[in-house]
Amino acid sequence: MTDFAELLEQNSYSKEDIVRILNANGRDEELLIQKAHNLRMSNVGNKVYMRGLIEISNICGKNCYYCGIRKGNKNVNRYLLSDKEVLKAAEYAYENDFGSLVIQGGELESDAWTSRIENLLREIKNLSNNELGITLSLGEQSEDTFRRWFDAGAHRYLLRFESSDHDLYHRIHPNDALHSYKRRFEAIDLLRKCGYQVGTGVMIGLPWQTADVLAEDLLRMKELDIDMCGMGPYVEHHDTPLYKYKDELIPVEERFRLTIKMIATLRLLINDINIAGTTAMQTIDPEGREKAFKAGANVVMPNITPTQYKDSYLLYDNKPGTKDEKEDSTEKVIQIIKDTGFEPGIGVWGDSPHFKKRD
Ligand code: SAM
Ligand code: SF4
Repeated sequence: MTDFAELLEQNSYSKEDIVRILNANGRDEELLIQKAHNLRMSNVGNKVYMRGLIEISNICGKNCYYCGIRKGNKNVNRYLLSDKEVLKAAEYAYENDFGSLVIQGGELESDAWTSRIENLLREIKNLSNNELGITLSLGEQSEDTFRRWFDAGAHRYLLRFESSDHDLYHRIHPNDALHSYKRRFEAIDLLRKCGYQVGTGVMIGLPWQTADVLAEDLLRMKELDIDMCGMGPYVEHHDTPLYKYKDELIPVEERFRLTIKMIATLRLLINDINIAGTTAMQTIDPEGREKAFKAGANVVMPNITPTQYKDSYLLYDNKPGTKDEKEDSTEKVIQIIKDTGFEPGIGVWGDSPHFKKRD
């Protein structure tokens, strides 16, 4: 069998290679993280880019079995930020040199929603002299909607495929037209067609998920030629259908370790994309994002949603930072980036070099 250090030097990886990398322990795991760090430094540099995250609404038309804000959860105080609240948060991001915003929320599809987001995008572009970059994460939409939002100023879109394994996808979602595996991947193709920088990702540590499935996920990301990725551990929420499998999950510490190895392995597979250190990592390990940066992640998304709503956007139990004033979390994040030996990417879009090279 190839020596592990030699395996890391390969130019391409089979599914079996990836499974072996994901199962690495001890010294091999350290070598993996070191290799990912080196690739990150030579391909995307030492900056960590900041995106101010606005959780615009927890109203969702879908019923994903893992998610705390699923339509069927009656114990959620539903909210929708007003235009004024969104624009105030955008102004804050602009004044604090974030460079970019992410607008995320439940999945809603209607003409009124499409128009409202379109108008907000134009207003954000106006208030920031076209300087704020905008990423959307608002679920599956029609081609027309994706196009209108792109034309109004959004240039990146995050739509996780959650799992590339058809059976697993249908075990974690209702088996109906609204939660179609096929439509998910078609939506990702449409985003590319409309001109977006395309981001996707998966949850790690889901029930029934194996290292084989995770290796397939990474290979699918490579095949889709993605520009960005946001992956995080699956964390259970007590008011969801998947909660009943909580005793069958791998321990949270293992989910965290596996997430770090997934980030590092993705950096090996596609060297020059943007990879986020996600909030869910911090739920498990208070230093979760720092560890993600050291394993190849180069994007962080401090939450700048008005504090009074943060408690209502609970995708999973024990979500951190819901009591933070946004000022606290921004300063904290900048300090964390510096303390970890990286440089905060202040006031720039921080686009994925992978996307720029494709142009
Ligand atoms: N509604 C949009 C969508 O689904 O693409 C965007 C918002 S959704 C809340 C963002 C991501 O949260 C999902 O893609 C999913 O991976 C993640 N998520 C939901 N429930 C989770 C959980 N229990 N643990 C970890 N991540 C979760
Ligand atoms: Fe809605 Fe997204 Fe949660 Fe699914 S993951 S229930 S689409 S918010």
